[in-house]
Amino acid sequence: MKIHEYQAKEIFRKFNVAVPNGKVAKKVDDVKGGAVRAAKELGGKVWVVKAQIHAGGRGKGGGVKVAKSIPQVRKYADEILGMNLVTHQTGPEGKVVNRLLIEEGINIAQELYVGITLDRAQSKNVFMVSTEGGVEIEKVAEETPEKIIKEAVDPAVGLQAYQARKLAFGLGLSGNQFKNAVKFLINLYKVYEATDASIAEINPLVVTKEGDVIALDAKMNFDDNALYRNKDILKYRDFDEEEPLEIEASKYDLNYIKLDGNVGCMVNGAGLAMATMDIIKLAGGEPANFLDVGGGANKETVANGFKIILSDKNVKAILINIFGGIVRCDRVAQGVIDAVNEIHVELPIVVRLEGTNAVEAGVLLKNSGLNFEVAESLEDAAQKVTSVLKK
Ligand code: ADP
Ligand code: MG
Repeated sequence: MKIHEYQAKEIFRKFNVAVPNGKVAKKVDDVKGGAVRAAKELGGKVWVVKAQIHAGGRGKGGGVKVAKSIPQVRKYADEILGMNLVTHQTGPEGKVVNRLLIEEGINIAQELYVGITLDRAQSKNVFMVSTEGGVEIEKVAEETPEKIIKEAVDPAVGLQAYQARKLAFGLGLSGNQFKNAVKFLINLYKVYEATDASIAEINPLVVTKEGDVIALDAKMNFDDNALYRNKDILKYRDFDEEEPLEIEASKYDLNYIKLDGNVGCMVNGAGLAMATMDIIKLAGGEPANFLDVGGGANKETVANGFKIILSDKNVKAILINIFGGIVRCDRVAQGVIDAVNEIHVELPIVVRLEGTNAVEAGVLLKNSGLNFEVAESLEDAAQKVTSVLKK
């Protein structure tokens, strides 16, 4: 699950991770919850008006503006609120801005980078820092990887003080900046661990001339499987930012991820679903989604799966790939037939059923009077579904 910058900063405050003072705004004017009121309450002479969307790169896209007067706060809030913000992370379609963060302007001496995420290969958390903050860290990683310093943290023992010092040294800090950075890194690791985060990333982390170390940006993602024990995080969920079809799918307990292609896939088992997407690509097609209907696929799950796939207007053909292990193929086939009859699927459907009662399933599909293409193998299925599209 992703959250907004202002929400991540709210969590940071609770763990003594330094952030600028700020207030969220959903309106422009000098009213409660308005940007102008927020700026007046914050006081000071410089404010930053920041678009709140679940994507980075907002600065470059025009979603972060420095205001030097209250009328400027009003002007920028008016411009940014409701705009369709396009960044390298939103994709070309962009995201509509529904919330702003009005923040005190910080006098930046240097912009750094700090991030923590899970390194699955090592089974450890990896703490990364770089002096090359503010810019796209992906570029740094690609072009000058030596500028990213990494420290693996064993989750069983947590971040050790010497590791935090090593990282702060790596950032080239000394004196007060160094001391504050060590504290900052230790507390950041605590947040990451305590909230079951999968990413805690600060770009930029800034140091000021006075020696303060402050998170100017804040990105946190959380492990969905741990949300049950983080109810206070769950309340940050913003449905406006999520893919509507994925929200719908989660209501039916379907694992669905929307993609950009035109071949809708319905598969049981995550591994088989991945393999199916691969083989569609190999055959020259583009999957429209990942969909794992689960091991116990029945009529209802198949029907719900169809509804989700068909709601994606890019889908031009459907590939159903079910391996009958616990679930019997003939039951799935009946489910497919019933669902197609019920919701009038008009797109070409290629079905590959293998395993328990596959033969009976084939007979059911053939005798259904519906227009299924029955495939003999996974490869055959991929070829059939892509050739249907070429017609
Ligand atoms: P994004 O990564 O989405 O572009 P950031 O929060 O990193 O958004 O902001 C972009 C840039 O705006 C920062 O690199 C920083 O230079 C400037 N900035 C952001 N917040 C503040 C602030 N409170 N005070 C001063 N400058 C800021
Ligand atoms: Mg940033």
